[in-house]
Amino acid sequence: MSDLLIMGSGVVGNFAAAYFRRYFPTLRVTVVGRSDQELPIVGESLVELSTHFLQDLGLSRTLIEQHLPKYGLTYYYKLDASRPRDPGYVVDEAPSNPPFPSFLINRFSFDAELRRLNRQRGVRCIEGKVTDVSLGNGAPHRVTAQRADGREESLEARWLVDATGRRRLLARQLGLQSQAPHQRSAFWVPDACASLD
Ligand SMILES: Cc1cc2nc3c(=O)[nH]c(=O)nc-3n(C[C@H](O)[C@H](O)[C@H](O)COP(=O)(O)OP(=O)(O)OC[C@H]3O[C@@H](n4cnc5c(N)ncnc54)[C@H](O)[C@@H]3O)c2cc1C
Repeated sequence: MSDLLIMGSGVVGNFAAAYFRRYFPTLRVTVVGRSDQELPIVGESLVELSTHFLQDLGLSRTLIEQHLPKYGLTYYYKLDASRPRDPGYVVDEAPSNPPFPSFLINRFSFDAELRRLNRQRGVRCIEGKVTDVSLGNGAPHRVTAQRADGREESLEARWLVDATGRRRLLARQLGLQSQAPHQRSAFWVPDACASLD
């Protein structure tokens, strides 16, 4: 029986585990998810506020010693937009070190370090996949996890956190999905950028 069971072992699931262990150290926290997937991991750029959050979780040293500092955005402007072939441009960059740090992180080493810290701080980590969720309506919630070796395990928890990202495990199960009225994806295409000059 856990107090808190987090479904999904991506960065959000592991941040949630670290946060709850830090501020509610008596809670028994379990994370169910797989860390050995060969999926691309995106999201390397921290802003000042997220850096502050990570420092609060005790990750300051990791950030400073193992990741790259960011010195704010640099913008390049054409001198005259009506002359697209003119190679001249001006550079507008942060004049000095920003007052609050932020970082570009290597997600593979960062995520591995976060999981290691969580285990060290008493988070139970189950390598596997959630295959069934039965909400308790007052009683403990029941979750079935299939471990990497195929074995099934039944788990109980007072609270659940759905951190399954775009899979949206609970939202799908509860029929909370709705079609967005507008396109919300953004695509960065190098060729399109090149054709702007
Ligand atoms: C191109 C791109 C660039 C981005 N750049 C940035 C950036 O620079 N900075 C930034 O802060 N953010 C960035 N983001 C956003 C950021 O990547 C996401 O917000 C973040 O990765 C979401 O993390 P997550 O843990 O919620 O989801 P995910 O990383 O998707 O993790 C969900 C986890 O749940 C697991 N899971 C799913 N189903 C189950 C199940 N049934 N049982 C157990 N586990 C399950 C999945 O395997 C996965 O490990 C970017 C996103 C994109 C697409």
